[in-house]
Amino acid sequence: MTTTLAALPVSVRSVYDEVVARNPHETEFLQAVHEVLDSIGPVLDAHPEYADAGILERIVEPERQIMFRVPWVDDDGILRVNRGYRIQFNSALGPYKGGLRFHPSVNLSIIKFLGFEQIFKNALTGQGIGGAKGGADFDPHGRSDAEVMRFCQSFMAELYRHIGEHTDVPAGDIGVGGREIGYLFGMYRKITNRHESGVLTGKGTGWGGAQVRTEATGYGAVFFVQEMLAVHGESLDGKRVGVSGSGNVAIYAIDKARQLGGLPVTASDSSGYVIDEAGIDVDLLRQLKEVERARIAEYAARRPGARFVEGAKPWTEQIDIAIPSATQNEIDEADAEALVAGGVRAVAEGANMPSTPEAVEVFRAAGVLFGPGKAVNAGGVATSALEMTQNAGREHWSFADSEHRLRGIMRDVHAAAFTAARHYGREGDYVVGANCAGFERVANAMLAQGVL
Ligand code: NDP
Repeated sequence: MTTTLAALPVSVRSVYDEVVARNPHETEFLQAVHEVLDSIGPVLDAHPEYADAGILERIVEPERQIMFRVPWVDDDGILRVNRGYRIQFNSALGPYKGGLRFHPSVNLSIIKFLGFEQIFKNALTGQGIGGAKGGADFDPHGRSDAEVMRFCQSFMAELYRHIGEHTDVPAGDIGVGGREIGYLFGMYRKITNRHESGVLTGKGTGWGGAQVRTEATGYGAVFFVQEMLAVHGESLDGKRVGVSGSGNVAIYAIDKARQLGGLPVTASDSSGYVIDEAGIDVDLLRQLKEVERARIAEYAARRPGARFVEGAKPWTEQIDIAIPSATQNEIDEADAEALVAGGVRAVAEGANMPSTPEAVEVFRAAGVLFGPGKAVNAGGVATSALEMTQNAGREHWSFADSEHRLRGIMRDVHAAAFTAARHYGREGDYVVGANCAGFERVANAMLAQGVL
């Protein structure tokens, strides 16, 4: 996917040019850096001391980049070799924190873009966690449980030496759910001979996992939508909600949207999407995706009235609230125009960077409320931080208590982004607000801690 990036303000151009020169082929990483640099001008103007301390030059360079071989043997006895990554981007605010992605598309650029975004997202949560991301170009689709287990064990046989509850705390992402976290944690425990609960988050609730972590990203995204709508005196009631993806984020965004009076009508995977005018049946979706690991077409096969559209994305449907929850750059300019033509009121990024820069421009020009991923999906990592807190204190909070805390965190994340945008004269622009608020928190910590 190629995207066109607009010219940057003079104050940040030389930093960006240096990033391009150093990382010439990393298109997703460059896109993410560009987006942040493009929006933090007002903060840089207000804090000349950041330039003196070289904050920008340092923040765009990961503190540490780890790449490693992951050899494993498949069920036919054939040796496979994948590539593993852990990019520890910034630890000024706390231990590195960010998910692991297992997907064939994973490469250095994608992990660096995700790690870079994670710095500012984590800062926005106010939870004292640094930014990191990792993963491998391994495809769990069609692999047996035993193969996934062997892969996870080999992956952890290297990763364990770089992580720890005070150092770096990975979690799940695309292709890494409860099953994978279980195998990874088991191997970490075996190698280190320590039951160090806080080393991974997203664990099962019976062995150190937090209530609501599974639901947190999707629920949090819908709470963010509620906040955006509330500013304009509107609610989710009766609104048609279009969700892409049918994984962890999508399922629980659909679930919460329905609970709060919205009508979620779509879900998708890489084979196409389903439209269900009666509202997506979350129990059926969970059964198909979490238990049977089936393709999305099966939803339409089992649900009377639902229709499967092969090889397409859901954005041409009539949708009031769009929550893209699959992957990066899944909404391009044409998709954004289709959404606007269909009367979309708000777009909330459940996934990381699902909208191309051109798509964001279309939403901006049309006056669509637009919540960027680093604010909208911050509920996942925030609840991971709550899991770390519970692990450290050997506590276990109830579902209701945890959901209440998540609701409060999303209110605060929205307020931080909204207030920063207003403070810097860009009221209603959540991209500017989220980037400025997150950047300021990290920059202040880096400034205080000296040149490292
Ligand atoms: P899952 O693996 O649970 O689900 C991913 C979903 O997106 C699947 O339905 C998958 O379909 C679809 N998908 C993935 N890649 C593509 C593609 N290239 N084209 C079309 N569809 C695709 O992942 P999550 O739900 O955990 O993550 C979804 C997004 O949310 C990612 O951007 C992730 O970074 C972000 N995110 C996740 C958090 C979490 O807590 N899980 C936290 C914050 C952000 P298929 O099975 O066919 O590949």
